[in-house]
Amino acid sequence: MVEIKQLNKSFGEHHVLKDIDLQVKTGEVVVIIGASGSGKSTLIRCINGLEEYNTGTLVVDGHGLEPHGGSQKALNTIRKEVGMVFQQFNLFPHLSVRRNIMLAPMKVKGMSQAQASDSAERLLERVGIGNQADKYPNQLSGGQQQRVAIARALAMEPRLMLFDEPTSALDPEMVGEVLDVMRELAREGMTMMVVTHEMGFAREVADRVIYIHEGRIVEEGAPDQVFDTPQNERTQAFLSRVL
Ligand code: ATP
Ligand code: MG
Repeated sequence: MVEIKQLNKSFGEHHVLKDIDLQVKTGEVVVIIGASGSGKSTLIRCINGLEEYNTGTLVVDGHGLEPHGGSQKALNTIRKEVGMVFQQFNLFPHLSVRRNIMLAPMKVKGMSQAQASDSAERLLERVGIGNQADKYPNQLSGGQQQRVAIARALAMEPRLMLFDEPTSALDPEMVGEVLDVMRELAREGMTMMVVTHEMGFAREVADRVIYIHEGRIVEEGAPDQVFDTPQNERTQAFLSRVL
């Protein structure tokens, strides 16, 4: 589903991602961990073309995304197939929850209003807030808003879902309900790449955990392996701070 080879990315003089090699198979859940500033978000953002990279190759679901943007066609295809959920929910405040979810399928996929509305209702059921369709984002809790953001991404029927710290902005009591939705998605076989500090979730749901240190993947393996017997001393130091 994702094939990254020797990817490098700099912001000006600042070399942020260094020789990243990473393959993600269909149905796999990969959790990315690492200290602040290590390049986790930049990596995720390269995968759906929100950031351009400098050298290397990046193929998503068979579509090559070239360095420095490349063709707009590949970029558009990839953006249709890749759903993204951020720390900040980025919902449109002036649109109802239903309209937030209907927007992209109608605009990008040419779905009819009736179809998009039905689909929005089904998706809201799926994330456990079927009764909130006609509220506005600011009438919902943070956890509910993040579940709307997940439903909105799912409305495009993505082949891959990217999550960048989806629970970091939430009050602690709302973290669980969002992780539950993500756990269910993983169980249904969605291919997922997740940046998170929720180590319990990583241990339970991830097929593979990747540790990034200063822009380089320095450790990768099954969760039990990475958490219980990390090989790299950087990983050991990081885990001793967060576990
Ligand atoms: P955090 O855990 O704090 O979210 P991160 O691992 O996601 O950190 P990134 O946001 O990917 O880290 O940032 C990696 C490095 O790249 C940081 O040093 C950051 O300052 C720098 N950086 C990120 N975005 C930009 C940008 N648009 N312009 C310049 N530098 C950037
Ligand atoms: Mg980040």
